[in-house]
Amino acid sequence: MSITSPSKVNLGLFPTPITKLSRLSSLLNGPEIFMKRDDLSGLALGGNKTRKLEYLFYDAITKGCDTVVTAGAAQSNHCRQTAAAAALLHKSCHLVLGGEPPDTANGNLMLDKLFGSQVHWRGVHRKGEDIPEIVENLKREGSQPYVIPYGGSNEIGAYGFVHAMAELEMQLDTSAITHIVFASSSGGTHAGMMLGKVLLHKAYRLIGINIDKGESNTIPFGDFIVELANRTSLSINSDRRFTAEELILNGDYVGDGYGVIGELEREAISLTAENEAILLDPVYTGRAMGGLIDMIRGGEFNKTDKVLFWHTGGVPALFAYADSLDG
Ligand SMILES: *Cc1c(COP(=O)(O)O)cnc(C)c1O
Repeated sequence: MSITSPSKVNLGLFPTPITKLSRLSSLLNGPEIFMKRDDLSGLALGGNKTRKLEYLFYDAITKGCDTVVTAGAAQSNHCRQTAAAAALLHKSCHLVLGGEPPDTANGNLMLDKLFGSQVHWRGVHRKGEDIPEIVENLKREGSQPYVIPYGGSNEIGAYGFVHAMAELEMQLDTSAITHIVFASSSGGTHAGMMLGKVLLHKAYRLIGINIDKGESNTIPFGDFIVELANRTSLSINSDRRFTAEELILNGDYVGDGYGVIGELEREAISLTAENEAILLDPVYTGRAMGGLIDMIRGGEFNKTDKVLFWHTGGVPALFAYADSLDG
């Protein structure tokens, strides 16, 4: 078996740092907590999508495309990082966003515009339902569009997280790490981590915190992640295949759904800010950290465990959620 490593363009500043959250650990009387800082991944205020986009943009360039099209919510971190990458690589960028244009563009949306992307508002369609129509129009106008799927989560993007697990290995003796906890939403991060973990023969448990009820998914989210891990494995000539039993996807913290901020997120964001001076985001990492805190309080970890929380970014959205964070 010979694994093929795909090529990429450089968009971020890697490796991202690892910090130890000693004050939060002792406050919770919990396990040791480390944090992998993909919020500091270097491109346009950071985030996990930069890892996927390095591979996706390489593919787009190889295919001779001059335009990228992707989709997300109005405050999508993925869309903001895509817009920044497109600016860096001199490509046009079309963003297909859910919702309606707000009176003032704030947070990620403000940045999308700064990077010169064109926004198409699509109401309830925040997962790229209308991409084919926009692609057809672009082709008719003579552009060569490249479609980056929702969240950058296909086998090309997910490889970014296979690579991320190898990056982690160079930084830290992960044989001591018992758990890795992170926010899971479009699946590419989770799928890439699963594959990276087995290729590196690691024993830590990967706990994805589901942050989206996934109302419009055609297949259950867990099945999608496993299928994506398998497609990613196939794409690099690995014969490893996964089953649903190998997936840990915790759905206890979706609350009132995607982007609806509650006490769980508010508490996690303030505890982390006040004790560690680290900013979490309201939609993803705030919810995932809220889940981790709740699991620690619920006695799901031993004091001797070593937990790595993967900070996947999203900080610019804090400003757009100022009202619900106040509550
Ligand atoms: C997209 C995103 C995630 C989830 O990653 P997926 O690969 O989509 O599952 C987590 N955190 C932040 C801040 C994100 O922007």
